[in-house]
Amino acid sequence: MEELWGRHVALSELSEHARRQLKKEMIKSEQAVFLRGNHVHCRRCGSVTTAKVAHLPLSADAKPRYFCPACLIMGRMCTQTALFHLPSPVKSSPAPATSAPASVLSWQGRLTAAQMRVSRQLCENTVKPHLVWAVTGAGKTEMLFPLIDEVLSKGGRVAFVSPRVDVCREIAPRLKDAFEKVPQLLLHGGSEEKYRFTPLIVCTTHQLLRFKDAFELVIVDEVDAFPFAGDEMLAFGVKKAVKSAGRIVYLSATPSKEMLQQTKSGELALSLLPARFHRKPLPQPQFIWLNKWEAAIEKAKLPQRLQKRIKKLVENGPLLIFCPEIRHLEAVAHWIKRKLPDYKSAWVYSGDAKRKEKVAALRRGELEILITTTILERGVTFSGVSVLVLGANHRVFNTASLLQILGRVGRKVENLAGEVIFVHDGQTRAMTEVKGQVRYLNQKAGEEGLLDELSDV
Ligand SMILES: [Zn+2]
Repeated sequence: MEELWGRHVALSELSEHARRQLKKEMIKSEQAVFLRGNHVHCRRCGSVTTAKVAHLPLSADAKPRYFCPACLIMGRMCTQTALFHLPSPVKSSPAPATSAPASVLSWQGRLTAAQMRVSRQLCENTVKPHLVWAVTGAGKTEMLFPLIDEVLSKGGRVAFVSPRVDVCREIAPRLKDAFEKVPQLLLHGGSEEKYRFTPLIVCTTHQLLRFKDAFELVIVDEVDAFPFAGDEMLAFGVKKAVKSAGRIVYLSATPSKEMLQQTKSGELALSLLPARFHRKPLPQPQFIWLNKWEAAIEKAKLPQRLQKRIKKLVENGPLLIFCPEIRHLEAVAHWIKRKLPDYKSAWVYSGDAKRKEKVAALRRGELEILITTTILERGVTFSGVSVLVLGANHRVFNTASLLQILGRVGRKVENLAGEVIFVHDGQTRAMTEVKGQVRYLNQKAGEEGLLDELSDV
């Protein structure tokens, strides 16, 4: 019954073989959704909904039925659904201390002294959930290898999860290389692989709802990203999926104020890595005032000085222009085509079928300017890139978002020419916070001896 170990699923989510076994072994189930007073509770996702909202049409037997609207996207759970779960078998008593379990790590790379320090802190903390705050480009995945190795080599199970599918897709092959001999599974809404028991799983935070008491270690990457940030259901999923004595590690380059508050109150342990792998400081953003930028975009009348600036940036490397809304993209693209016809430019948005091709074209130098929404704020690396945020004081650009955008610049040591420019018509708190945070992180990194030279910005 390996298929059910640590899982929390309905009959319809199991293989034919597992279903037959369930019947044979008379495995008990629990009701997925139940009514208490005027509220409907869901055991899969922990949500509570008012009965009025969660009511289903009467069935033939005229019994009232309810469903959970919160986790509907993962398949409907209702009062008639049975949820199955089997605890993972407990490992036999631990081996005597003299024989340390053999490492399963095949990665040959080396951690820097700073990464090693964080890695050690992670291995030593067996009590509290742990936040790793590492600047963009710090090499945070590698820092986790010793902890993952420790858990796997003792026979434990590990889940590496992220709210973003593209992060999961990117991380899965890296973990496969680092732990060559460990069976691994990649799970997300559109994944083709069928579920099977593996010691190592990479999945979206949504997929964790289908687990219960399954993992000795759950690592949540990009905790500040949509849709995980502020989502109680997904936070519940993480806690349900980890075993009671298991560990949770949260990773972020831009942790929320709430999380940092929890590190101060002692609920969360904190490791800070303020410097990038290549020991250069984070770039400071430059602010450029543009009166009524939105009207200027709509009328395609951006000032000449901005045109000159863009020209200068593109001469140094690729340029990403971030706009607050999809409707701005086309107008900016037209303006660039008209004013700077010598440069190869394109625009891209979340639903763009050619999104991947356009990103690849910028990387190969076939495009020089890519105009985009916040979809490219994370997870993309271009050598020598500059970023220009048009309308940086728009509400979509919060502190985390601006810091992520800034984090695209100066990631490759062979080309650190990129600049960060925020075009605005009224400085927001987020913009000020970004400046403050960059200053803080660079200063911290300098104090800890993690930079080759101090920033002069
Ligand atoms: Zn639910």
